[in-house]
Amino acid sequence: MPMMNKKERPLDEAFSEFCGRAGFRRTLQRKIIYGLFYGGRKHLSVEEIMSSISQKAPELREESVYRILGDFEREGYIRKVEVPGVKKYERTTEKHGHFLCSKCGKISDVDISSIAIPKILEEASDITVTFNGVCPSCSKRRYQIRKS
Ligand SMILES: [Zn+2]
Ligand SMILES: [Zn+2]
Repeated sequence: MPMMNKKERPLDEAFSEFCGRAGFRRTLQRKIIYGLFYGGRKHLSVEEIMSSISQKAPELREESVYRILGDFEREGYIRKVEVPGVKKYERTTEKHGHFLCSKCGKISDVDISSIAIPKILEEASDITVTFNGVCPSCSKRRYQIRKS
């Protein structure tokens, strides 16, 4: 599993190796979607993926995007974001929690490594942590509206 602080290799190299390992053909469509998740911590919905690739590959259809995402998920490159009511994908990284803004729907990663797990749950095989609230930029906006 890739560590977050490790320096990322060039996209071309990583993509080629990934396709070689998975037995995928190196298509432009796969490469564009692979690149969207590469080198960052993004949480992307299918709509966001569609809109960011519509210029580079206008012929790419939604079914193909779903198929590629499914392939990437099976290969362990990406996974579904574990936030109730949210349909987004993220690159597979170390275990972390999420903060979901109730105003704008933005999702951010939260480091949960220092959170104490109650003793009774120590044997739990999987833990999903979601924090809900208003993100800093939304709360700032609210403050500005109140002020004027
Ligand atoms: Zn927000
Ligand atoms: Zn995340």
